[in-house]
Amino acid sequence: MIINKLFDTAIVGGGVAGTALLFTLARYADVENLILFEKYDEVSQLNSNPKANSQTLHVGDIESNYSYEKAVHVKKASSMIANYIQNFNEVDKIGFRKDKMLLAVGEEEIQALKERYNEFKMLYPYLELWDEVTLAKMEPKLTEGRTEPIMAMGTKGQITTVDYKKLSESFVQQALDTNKNVQMRYNEEVTKIEKNSDGYYTITTDTTEFQAKSVVVNAGAYSLLFAQSMGYGKEYAILPIGGSFFFTKEKLLESKVYTMQNPKLPFAAIHADPDCTQEWNTRFGPTAFALPKLERYHALHLKDLISALNIDSDVTKVYMSLFKDPTIRRYILKNVLEEIPLVGKEVFIRDAKKIIPSLKVQDLTFAQGYGGMRPQIIDKQKHQLMLGEVKISKSSLIFNMTPSPGATNSLSIARDDAKDICTALGLRFHEAKHQKEIQILDEGIASPLDRMKEVV
Ligand SMILES: Cc1cc2nc3c(=O)[nH]c(=O)nc-3n(C[C@H](O)[C@H](O)[C@H](O)COP(=O)(O)OP(=O)(O)OC[C@H]3O[C@@H](n4cnc5c(N)ncnc54)[C@H](O)[C@@H]3O)c2cc1C
Repeated sequence: MIINKLFDTAIVGGGVAGTALLFTLARYADVENLILFEKYDEVSQLNSNPKANSQTLHVGDIESNYSYEKAVHVKKASSMIANYIQNFNEVDKIGFRKDKMLLAVGEEEIQALKERYNEFKMLYPYLELWDEVTLAKMEPKLTEGRTEPIMAMGTKGQITTVDYKKLSESFVQQALDTNKNVQMRYNEEVTKIEKNSDGYYTITTDTTEFQAKSVVVNAGAYSLLFAQSMGYGKEYAILPIGGSFFFTKEKLLESKVYTMQNPKLPFAAIHADPDCTQEWNTRFGPTAFALPKLERYHALHLKDLISALNIDSDVTKVYMSLFKDPTIRRYILKNVLEEIPLVGKEVFIRDAKKIIPSLKVQDLTFAQGYGGMRPQIIDKQKHQLMLGEVKISKSSLIFNMTPSPGATNSLSIARDDAKDICTALGLRFHEAKHQKEIQILDEGIASPLDRMKEVV
């Protein structure tokens, strides 16, 4: 085996999280040598692919499944992506401006929407309340054939939709354009990471061995498997949750339309999104169902799956407590039915009709080849299903597990990791430059390209 030169940082995984870190380290940290391993022949073939996720930049303003605290966090994180897209001239190529709204159906939801509007308007002063007359003009399909009253809160013209694969490609290009030594290793699967006696790491791939002073694993569900192979994260297991989508035969909506969340359910209610891979045709979803797979459309590695599920009495307790709740039980059953050919559409349409009441079963097609796997983490000690990202950080060794909204949060996670890596390696992180280019702007409104030029 060839032992390659020593890299400052090795990144495992070329999804949006891994490439965001590559960009952040190359552009804002005093690292010299970076290497990224991706087991497929391109970046973002799994969850960061626009066919796998909902393409939403989660700002927290229309996501009624987010608490105020979570909204504060995603607002900041999403502004980093919006700022990148604007400052690096990627509007209408990677990030797209669309109208968006949270739709309330029926008096009870309208009341809850108004309360949410009052609570959240300090955080999102641009939010507007839209009544039925306004909605009928904006999006006629929302009102056609509807008997119940509706209301929405939303905004127009912000970046709402992101092609996270194109974003990953842009991150890689920006990293390659720096004067750092950046090596991209495609078609190279990392099989082992070991800590050496000198404190550095050996990264073994299917063909070679590499040395690095620090390692960040952004490999989706596999991050936990790597952590556990090195003796960390034994307190976690993975519950792989699949998400599927349905297309309408023609474009029915111009805006992203989210619906009010049933607070008892762990996953976001379905929404309707204009799809950037299908000429903005309307896509409904995602569903949420447990699936014994780590990758939606690739062969199953049974050994990996068994390790990830990590089933023992603690994990079983979490499953049992989910099943005990009748609302969650019904929700699980409904989501399983939605995956069954023919029956699926009949079940799914009940939720989709909440958004477009005139929708018919024959208007929907199952989005074949679309959908992804959310690596939801179970905390075995707390007997809890965790809904956000989980990080295992051991100074110069970091593992990230990134279910939704991990793509939105990718630059924020990357900034934290880059700073930790700099601290561990005794290197400088150029905070001022990062702030001017990525952090300062809020809500993605301004576009001060000239501000970037001031920074050396
Ligand atoms: C149905 C669904 C809808 C979603 N909608 C949204 C949304 O609208 N907005 C949002 O912000 N987020 C959304 N998410 C979440 C989002 O897709 C993920 O958080 C994000 O893509 C995770 O990025 P990642 O880079 O961590 O993982 P991935 O994109 O999964 O990338 C991991 C990479 O690691 C590589 N890899 C794995 N093992 C190895 C190895 N051993 N060696 C080398 N390479 C390896 C893989 O090939 C892959 O490229 C959604 C997810 C799903 C499933």
